[in-house]
Amino acid sequence: MTSPSKTEVQAAIGEYIKQLAEPLRELNRKIHENPELAYEEHHSHDVICKFLEAQNIPVKRHVYGLRTAFEAIVGESSGRCVNFNAEYDALPGIGHACGHNLIATASVAGFMALAFAIQKFGLPGQAQLLGTPAEEDGGGKVDLIRAGAFKNVDVSLMMHPMAEDEFSKGILGIGGRSTIACFDITAAYHGVSAHAAASPWEGVNALDALVSAYNNISMLRQQIGPDERIHGAIMQAPTVTNAIPELTRTKYTIRSRTQKGARALGERVRKCLDAGALATGCKVELEENSDGYQDAIGDLGVHVVSCDDTLMPGSTDQGNVSQVVPALHALVGIPVTDGAHNHTRQFTAAAATDEAHERSVTSGKAMAMTGWRLLVDDQYYSKVRQSFDEIMG
Ligand SMILES: [Zn+2]
Ligand SMILES: [Zn+2]
Repeated sequence: MTSPSKTEVQAAIGEYIKQLAEPLRELNRKIHENPELAYEEHHSHDVICKFLEAQNIPVKRHVYGLRTAFEAIVGESSGRCVNFNAEYDALPGIGHACGHNLIATASVAGFMALAFAIQKFGLPGQAQLLGTPAEEDGGGKVDLIRAGAFKNVDVSLMMHPMAEDEFSKGILGIGGRSTIACFDITAAYHGVSAHAAASPWEGVNALDALVSAYNNISMLRQQIGPDERIHGAIMQAPTVTNAIPELTRTKYTIRSRTQKGARALGERVRKCLDAGALATGCKVELEENSDGYQDAIGDLGVHVVSCDDTLMPGSTDQGNVSQVVPALHALVGIPVTDGAHNHTRQFTAAAATDEAHERSVTSGKAMAMTGWRLLVDDQYYSKVRQSFDEIMG
């Protein structure tokens, strides 16, 4: 078979995706209407698996030791393997406020389109679709990397929706951006309990230590760089008033543009946390997270298409994937009301619109075309691989 031209592949993919328009819209809707939290995405996992099977794509459920991960592979293992990552976790209380239903839609569409082209034109290589749980909390892709899900992958592709007003006018998306390095610090304050009315002077107040540290960090936040973030939560606090609290816990996430920046900022946060203990006479235990997130030097985000170096104030476990294989984390703008951004109720509503759906499908087609080129164009692939090797040193 003579290899088809780009125009032929594009036309075939366009036609194919057109036939899938209704089922894809339906799939997106089902995921959006049933938001599920990290590692609990049972419904999303099932509806995507059923969707694939209805299109005669064999799929393995509950793979790599994760209840809500799945894998589908089409093509011959002799060629290169192009991976698509489908995220589908939502946020507590505000549903699909990060639009991961759109990520799932784009990756399913992209994978299906490339799988179709592989079969129709007898292309070399494979398309792999991974259902990747828990992007928002936990880092499901870190689990998947450890379990070997990317072992045979040559390049990984995915997109992420953002509010379109974050881009310059006329631009609906970016092939890639730097994400940021991030890690967590948890502080446990140990005090001494005492009766709050009868003998408070005998106590050492662990809640005061926490509140004092909270205030220190709130002040620090005024003096950090525009590309840095610190955000925290109270993990354990007293629920009664009549005892001096003896144990409290708080957790902070520290983000900066580089790993070095995150470390330096982390040192300043540690001082604030220590000061809470010093001021109150509590003992503090500090612990840094070890869930693999600290390895997420996301500023190696993209090696496939052109890259905008402006900051995206968030981190993603696709950054971890980009440490293992050349990876794309494209950003696609969608219309959001009130100038709102990801992780808001407005974004949840925006992620449900037909317009957002259309843009996801379009980016799915673009990813499929990128995948096609990676499979058939040796020169293109070696350029991608070369720049990955250079960045990884
Ligand atoms: Zn998010
Ligand atoms: Zn997200």
